[in-house]
Formats: sequence, structure tokens, C-alpha cells
Amino acid sequence: MPELRKDPITDRWVIISTERARRPSDFIRESRPTKASGRFCPFCPGHEGKTPPEVLAYRNGSGPNQPGWSLRVFPNKFPVLGIEGDLNREGDGMFDKMQGIGAHEVIVESPDHVLSMTELPESAIGQALAAFRERILDLKNDFRLRYVLLFRNEGEGAGATLEHTHSQLIALPVVPKSVKEELDGAKDYHDFKERCLFCDMIRQEAREAERVVLETDRFIVIEPYAARFPFETWILPKQHRSHYEGTEVRSFENLAWVLKSTLRKLEKVLERPAYNFLIHTAPLQEPPNTYYHWHIEIIPKLTRVAGFEWGTGFYINPTPPEESARFLREAGLG
Ligand code: ZN
Ligand code: ZN
Repeated sequence: MPELRKDPITDRWVIISTERARRPSDFIRESRPTKASGRFCPFCPGHEGKTPPEVLAYRNGSGPNQPGWSLRVFPNKFPVLGIEGDLNREGDGMFDKMQGIGAHEVIVESPDHVLSMTELPESAIGQALAAFRERILDLKNDFRLRYVLLFRNEGEGAGATLEHTHSQLIALPVVPKSVKEELDGAKDYHDFKERCLFCDMIRQEAREAERVVLETDRFIVIEPYAARFPFETWILPKQHRSHYEGTEVRSFENLAWVLKSTLRKLEKVLERPAYNFLIHTAPLQEPPNTYYHWHIEIIPKLTRVAGFEWGTGFYINPTPPEESARFLREAGLG
């Protein structure tokens, strides 16, 4: 029998279809390429003039917008939101609107033209994690901005348009709905139990172990109980923190290992799938709280969202998370 499972955070129901449980090989179709195309790359060193001026760079001595960097952050050339101006919130009868104020930045984590985050050394990934924090702390000073979403699209199937590996951030003047649902759900749970839902989840998952992919002293990687998508994977810090930027910099070394290991396992089992990676964190202008707990979500693009999902908000997941966790655990790191 298929099983209906409720996500404890958002109360969203998911259909886990155990009958036609699908194995990794059933999903493998459009793997990401392994070789560079040779096309002109605006993110490579020497082409700094092809991007807007940088807002942050880690470099050894060289001047801004010159080669010699190990990480570079600059505004997206085609931003979805603009940073200049006022919000001008207004009502138009029953409708609400405001100016499209926000920031859209690109984080190029390495001068090397590699096509996957897993090809970067852990030190470069750790540096990227620290840069994410640094950018959030800077954008926090802009009181028009309420939320920063950090994300990566790897592979064309996930929306990537340039092959040089990179992350992006979008700072928004509102809190996105999917985050708000998580915040509200976590707050309700906390009001009722006086405990953090995510901390409870981490304890239970670690104890039961069947949905755990890997674990260190500081982080745990799980396939969530009510996973919406096959091989949906979450990385959670064991220490309670509502905000990503509240993480101590020394944790990033361990997180870099955890992230790279997790991505390598996914690449091994699913043969370099396209995927989206996003960081869920508490809203920018809110003080640290005891009910929300930042985490990373990784969604391999293996299935398409169809009419039933659009119409109901239900998802049908053809691979029980217990099974995907087992495949990933057994994948090894070699
Ligand atoms: Zn490049
Ligand atoms: Zn917590």
C-alpha cells in the first residue's frame, strides 16, 4: 500500500508510493556533462570586466576586479530585482504592490573552470560557506531587505545557464511563502512543546538511523520522513541556530566536508544529476530564536511536478526516504 506521510514542519502531506518504488537507475537520464564546452566563460580569471564590479573577493594582494582571486562575488548581470530606490509599498484597491527592490548576486567559488562543486577542494567550499555568511551580514544592514536566499542550480535541468560552478543569492523585501510556512509550523510546535522541532527531529533521526545518510559531531544528513522528491536530502547543524549567519566560522570546515561528501554520494548513486541546493534560514531582521533551525535542502531533479501536485500541493514520491538513505549510505566516498 502507498503511504501518506505528513511533514511535521509544514503539515504538507506526501504520498510515498512503495508499490512502484523506484531505484536510482530508474531516474538516470540527463546527467550533467563532465567536460567543459570550451565556450567563452565570463567567470574565469582575466574576464573580470565582463561582470559587474565585485562586492566581495578573497584575493592575495591583487587589486579589485583583477585576476588573483580565489573567490569572487558580484551582482548578477541580469538581476531579478534591483537594489536602487524605495519600496513604495502601496495598495491598489484590494491588491498590494511594491517596487522590485532586492539584491541578486553571483558567488564564484573558484577561479578554476570546474563544472561541479564536488571538483572543488574542501578549502574552497569552506571559503564559499564563509562568504555566504559575510554577504548575509552585509545585506542585513539594509533594512528594506527581509530575507536572503542562498542557492545553487547545478545542471541545465536545474536552471543553470553557465557551466563554471557558482552559487547565487537573492535578497528579498519579503519573506518567501515556503520559508514562512516552515517558520509558522516550527513556531506552533515550539509553542506547544517548548522545544525546537528540528532539534527533536535530529535526535529522533539519529536514534532511529534508518534515514541518516551520514553524521559528524556537528552535522547530520538525512532523507526527511515526508520527503517530497526522491533523494531529497537535508543537512542540519546539530547545534541549535535559527540563522545561518549565526554559525561559527570554525564549523564551516566540517560543513564543507559534509556537503562535499553528500554531493559526491548523490553524484555516485544518480550519475551526476542536475540539482538545486538551498539554504533555509530565519528572516534577516529577526533576532535569533529558539524555534527555527537553519538547514540546507538538496533537491535532485529526477521527477517532474505534474497536475496532481500543482492542483493539491501534495507530492508523490516514488522512492521511500528509507531506501534512498540506504543507497546513499552504501555509496561510500571513494
Ligand atoms: Zn570559467
Ligand atoms: Zn533547533
